[in-house]
Amino acid sequence: MRTDAARLWGEACSLICKELPEKDYETWILELNPTSFEDDTLTLEAPFGLFRDRVRQAYLPAIERAVSVAADRRCRVAVVVGSLGRTRATTQDRPRPAGGRPVKRPANLMGRKTFENFIVGESNRLAWAAARQLADGDTSTGNPLFIYGGVGLGKTHLLLAIAHKLKLRGRRVLYYQGEDFTRKMVEALRLDRMDAFRREFQVADALLIDDIQFIAGKKRTQQEFYHAFNLLHGAGKPITLAGDREPSELETLEQGLKSRFQGGLLADLAPLDKDLRYRILRVKMKESGLELSDSAIERVAGRLQGSVRDIEGMVLRLRAATTHHGPDLDERMVETLIAPYVGSAAPVTLDKIIDTVAWVYSISRGELLSRDRSRRVAWPRHVAAYLCRKLTNASLPEIGEVLGGRNHTSVLRAVRSVADRVSGDAAFCSRLREIEGMLGHVRDNGVGARL
Ligand code: ADP
Ligand code: MG
Repeated sequence: MRTDAARLWGEACSLICKELPEKDYETWILELNPTSFEDDTLTLEAPFGLFRDRVRQAYLPAIERAVSVAADRRCRVAVVVGSLGRTRATTQDRPRPAGGRPVKRPANLMGRKTFENFIVGESNRLAWAAARQLADGDTSTGNPLFIYGGVGLGKTHLLLAIAHKLKLRGRRVLYYQGEDFTRKMVEALRLDRMDAFRREFQVADALLIDDIQFIAGKKRTQQEFYHAFNLLHGAGKPITLAGDREPSELETLEQGLKSRFQGGLLADLAPLDKDLRYRILRVKMKESGLELSDSAIERVAGRLQGSVRDIEGMVLRLRAATTHHGPDLDERMVETLIAPYVGSAAPVTLDKIIDTVAWVYSISRGELLSRDRSRRVAWPRHVAAYLCRKLTNASLPEIGEVLGGRNHTSVLRAVRSVADRVSGDAAFCSRLREIEGMLGHVRDNGVGARL
């Protein structure tokens, strides 16, 4: 049944993509997931309610038409909201491209939340190492372990990895989201079942609380939590907490808890650096079965920003697109697909490079583009040629053209002379990086900038 739905949707998509503007198709249609085809009704899952409404409102007739043509009889289409988990779980049923190349089914779309699947770099090494140690039952470097950092950087992943490992070792693990703890406690109070609630803590071998910031500020919850905490802590059982900032900055956290947390081991998950982002991109591509051409990877990698979750979102989106179009997504399509994840930075233009370089070297644009061969002017011109080559997709003749009508061999010579200097002159290198920064190309204070 599912395969029917997927096949039908695949055929319908190849019709819809001809009918709708490409952008609409990529934004709205590609995100839909076929789940069933019964009684001549194809059910499609949308990621969230507003999305569903928009699809119903704007595209339903076109979708129904295409599905009917594909099925060769009148069909109806139901657009519903799918939970993220379910939507992702059925990705193997996504449409196949018209050419019939089978879509690789990833073993598990984004990997399980284990230590083995956690990609380690400078920004998360401490938290990772501390979590592993605790998962081995070793509390000697600090208990509790308090992991903190921004959204999507791996807090929950590490907690689940700890839980997984402890369970493998036969330990009874109590894992709570901050809100769940409160909810369960309130419920226990209401039903007069506090004893049972507390007993869970008495028999647990380890306690993990995620999003602890949601406990902060609630007096009764904090008291109860304090009690549970002391019980396990006193017995030397491993405790791990995760929050969006360090304990001292959780203003509404009671002092007693604050100092308890601070007495343990604090480990932060810092924003990713460029190198780690790139490695995560490659691994997530592999895990999700995303195949891209080298030039598309290059395009995406140069623009990565944000958290691991952002990278995952981007990979899933690209993957949905390659399912229809194959790995050779063109430049415009890649730009559209990654736009929500890479901010609004416009691509660097030749003009912008020329203006910026002229400004940095205090010469006029006219001078930079002139025939003047004095070093004062020729060198900046070389630098501009180099940056045009590096930061844009323009060809050598095109670059020669905008740089005052030079032929491609002189552009090549200029590019090489700058490249030579880059490899031997650190001061020049950092100047170049500054210029790239001004062009909005370097986002990470130059960390790992490829020159
Ligand atoms: P947080 O709880 O900090 O908001 P999550 O742990 O939910 O973030 O991470 C968001 C997503 O990114 C999850 O799918 C998680 O598996 C993944 N992730 C985070 N950090 C890593 C990492 N270092 N290696 C691999 N996947 C990661
Ligand atoms: Mg989380």
